[in-house]
Amino acid sequence: LTSKELTEQTLAGIKEKDEDISAFITVNDAATDVAKKVDTEGIKGNLSGIPIAFKDNIVSNGIKTTAASKILYNFMPVYSATVLEKLESAGAINIGKTNMDEFAMGSSTETSFFGNTHNPWNLDYVPGGSSGGSAAAVASGEVVAALGTDTGGSIRQPAAFNGIFGIKPTYGRVSRWGVIAFSSSLDQVGVMSKRVEDSATVLSTMAGHDYHDSTSSEKEVPDYRANLDKDMSGVKIAIPKEFWHEGADPEVIKQVNAAIDVYKKLGATVEEVSLPTLKHAVEVYYVLASSEASSNLQRYDGVRYGFRAKDVKNIKDLFVNSRSEGFGDEVKRRIMLGTFALSAGSYDAYFKKAAQVRTIFIQEMTKVLDKYDLIMGPSTTSAAFKIGAKIDDPLAMYMNDILTIPANLAGLPAASVPAGLANGMPVGLQIMAKPFNEQAIFNAAYALQ
Ligand code: GLN
Repeated sequence: LTSKELTEQTLAGIKEKDEDISAFITVNDAATDVAKKVDTEGIKGNLSGIPIAFKDNIVSNGIKTTAASKILYNFMPVYSATVLEKLESAGAINIGKTNMDEFAMGSSTETSFFGNTHNPWNLDYVPGGSSGGSAAAVASGEVVAALGTDTGGSIRQPAAFNGIFGIKPTYGRVSRWGVIAFSSSLDQVGVMSKRVEDSATVLSTMAGHDYHDSTSSEKEVPDYRANLDKDMSGVKIAIPKEFWHEGADPEVIKQVNAAIDVYKKLGATVEEVSLPTLKHAVEVYYVLASSEASSNLQRYDGVRYGFRAKDVKNIKDLFVNSRSEGFGDEVKRRIMLGTFALSAGSYDAYFKKAAQVRTIFIQEMTKVLDKYDLIMGPSTTSAAFKIGAKIDDPLAMYMNDILTIPANLAGLPAASVPAGLANGMPVGLQIMAKPFNEQAIFNAAYALQ
């Protein structure tokens, strides 16, 4: 099979399946030409000729990048994100840009300006979010792997809802240059695939230090795939009792417990621990993430790029109208929340307090990881919900993230691994590890696969 043939097949598959699923915002019609080049020039890399999908907040030179927002509906980047460039240098083909919640704010892909994506397991259900398009594209078999971003769970929650593997690496493991910023102290790029091996290959290829991103780490990047090891004997697993909290769906708990029992059988030791501050994680996250977002989103003003309001009389109207018409409701809610939390009168009570509680939480997690190799629990408190069920209830939507937020607050690597079904919809087991020990996560996920 040539790369061109594989790309043509992939494009045909997307065309057929995406009528129902709507995982893509933009399909890259030029992909076949790129594949032809890979064939003729013989680009040798560990992803040579493999079509990969990219969440639409990862900028792609000459291919529209929208972050699923009206304010960027026509934005044509003149450069590519480092992750995209690295994967292309290894021979990967950018097959298209996937749907997401607007600016990655949401947990269901319902806040997209371009309409929602459907869960391939049942089209009446959400695919999760914000990387819902990427997850649905992988679960439906449109692509073998897709990149996502994860600020508070946006890779792991959709991976869980779609029955696939998805990993958010350690903060600093992957460059964010060219990735549209949401909350800079939390954002990280990661990957989703059905097979653990494929994510391992993609992550090794795109990780590492980048001159353009001073938050990227200089630590050496292991070959995760070559080092996959199923041996779980002696591995110490912590299960925080707060992850099994009352609101969780008993069917989800049953499946997650069954997965953890497999590790016991494979020789791992499993012990209960406590993360008392988990109960504040959602509040802390939404104050910090919204504050950073309100600052990051100042650049969208209708002047430099993207949507510009018409019929304005002066520069102030241009800013106000472009932003009022260009941003959706959820994004506006975050900007208002964040601006409030950062304002002179509320900074101490909200932003500063949230930052302090974050520090306490990091200490709690670090203490657990001093003694244990892995932390495990459910990825989410329920399986996928129906389209429309939570979109009018922001707090219910925010509570979705309670189990995924901890890894972002502490900068830890974390993944969701398929762990059976609850009432016919997939369930995810979440695995967290020490900073820069993605290998331990890949190994544990591989052992379960
Ligand atoms: N659902 C969370 C939010 O809306 C997380 C989003 C994300 O990880 N990008 O902020």
